[in-house]
Order: sequence, then C-alpha cells, then structure tokens
Amino acid sequence: MYIAGVDIGGTNLKFGLFDENLACVYTQLTRTVRGDTQACARQIKALVDGAPHAPDIVGVGVPGAVFRPSGKVNSGNLRWAGVNFGETLRQELNLPVWIDNDAQAALAAETLPGGSCCGLKDVVYLTLGTGIGGALLIDGKPWRGHDNGAAELGHFITHAGGLKCACGLRGCFEMYASAGTLARYSGGVRARLVLDRAAQGDSKMIEALDVYAKEVAIGLCSLYMIFRPEAMVLGGGISAGGEILVQRILKQIEPAYNLDAKAMAQVLRLAKHRNDAGMAGAAALAKQGLMR
Ligand SMILES: [Zn+2]
Repeated sequence: MYIAGVDIGGTNLKFGLFDENLACVYTQLTRTVRGDTQACARQIKALVDGAPHAPDIVGVGVPGAVFRPSGKVNSGNLRWAGVNFGETLRQELNLPVWIDNDAQAALAAETLPGGSCCGLKDVVYLTLGTGIGGALLIDGKPWRGHDNGAAELGHFITHAGGLKCACGLRGCFEMYASAGTLARYSGGVRARLVLDRAAQGDSKMIEALDVYAKEVAIGLCSLYMIFRPEAMVLGGGISAGGEILVQRILKQIEPAYNLDAKAMAQVLRLAKHRNDAGMAGAAALAKQGLMR
C-alpha cells in the first residue's frame, strides 16, 4: 500500500510517496499554481501519474483553515475562499483524499517516532514560510477548535493598527515574521540566502536577521506565556537553515522580554523533518483518517 502526501505551500508544492510504514520512497517539488483550484488538482494528478507506484490514498496539507464538517477551505496565500478542494481533488483523482491544515499535518509528523516532539503532550508548532501556520498539541491531543479551524497562529496581532493582512486584520504576526518578511528586512535577499550569509558572518544579513528574530521572538513569548508548552517547534521553509535563527531569537528574548532565555532554549527547537514535515504529516493524517 502507498500513500501520497502533498504539501501545498504558498510558493512550492511538495509531493511525496510513502509506504505503509510512512517511509518516504519518492518526492517531487514544483511551483504552486495559486488561485485556480481545478488547475491545482490537475497539477497533483500529474504528480500522482508520474509517481513510481500508484497511491491508494492521498493526504493534502494546505496553508489555511480546513473547516469540518463542510470541508470548505480558506487560504489567503492560495487565494482560496470557501472552496471544497478535497472534493475537487477526489473527483480529479478518483481516490480517497484527506485534506487538512498544513501545520496540523506537520505537527502530526513531528509527534511520530523520530520527530522533534515525539512523546510530548504540550507543543506549539509554527511553520515559518510564505505565511505563518500554527498547530497546538494540548494534553496530548491536537487542539482544533469546534470547526477544525483553530490555531491560526499567524493571525494574532503583534502590531496593533499595523500592516494589512490577507485575512482582513491589521498587524498580524504573519505580516512581520513570515519568511517573506525576512526578505523585506534584508533589502530583497531571499530568506534562505539571508540565513546562509548570516551563518557565514555577513554583518548586514545578521542585522536583517536580528530584526526578523525580534519579530519572531515577540510572537513566541506571547505563545509561551499562554500555553507554557514543553516544546515550541519551528518548521516551514526557514527551518532548512534555521540553527542560526534559533540562536538569534534566543538572543532577542533575554534583554527584551525578561523571560528566562535558558528555559526558552530548552523548549525552542527546529522541526526534525524540517520543511518536509507537512508532506510526511499529510500522509500520516490520511492514513489515520482514511484507514480506520
Ligand atoms: Zn492575518
């Protein structure tokens, strides 16, 4: 039996094929087609057709809220509002499809053996990518809210009256601490390059990274105070080169917020599956949700 795991990001779409033990046997990466859900479904169909084995079920993570029981999806980053993408894809593939929020999927992958928070009960998970996604594990269970739309951690306000966000609010965490904003602080250098150059000692990039790290720290401190988690996990595009980011965030926390940076250092960590967590987790959730 094979399971396809698809992570539809705001920029890239990741496709993975997993065996029944959730070991990854094949991956593909392509640019996300945004806006047009039919085109996105066809894009996934082409990836399924090109895979070395036909999947039996498909799990999809999307950067937005997936409401239940309606199946409607809202995603500012994909420019989807109230679309039932699970149904669209089911019809295109003629296969069982499980659709979920990408950060919920990533958290599911990280709680499996080998993940960054396996065995823990209270976890805050953040995907720092094109936008910011979030997921919460509370007392060992994912916290999903009454309609499955909970934990949109990119959309609590860190700058009252600040920049207008795609969600309609002003001053959301995402407008100051997504990977895209790191490019803004660095004068247009891509997030991954900023991290690489900062790690090599480039002082201008370190300066930009510190502006960014402070914004991430503001959000993390609030989340820490609310949830008092055992782990705060950073995933998404930025986690690929994020060791230096973790260090710069911890440096910002101590003087600015009078929180115990040592306690924070113990809980703050990078996703073990790094940027593949969403893809692996979408497969894991599909297996859980569709194979019962
Ligand atoms: Zn927002």
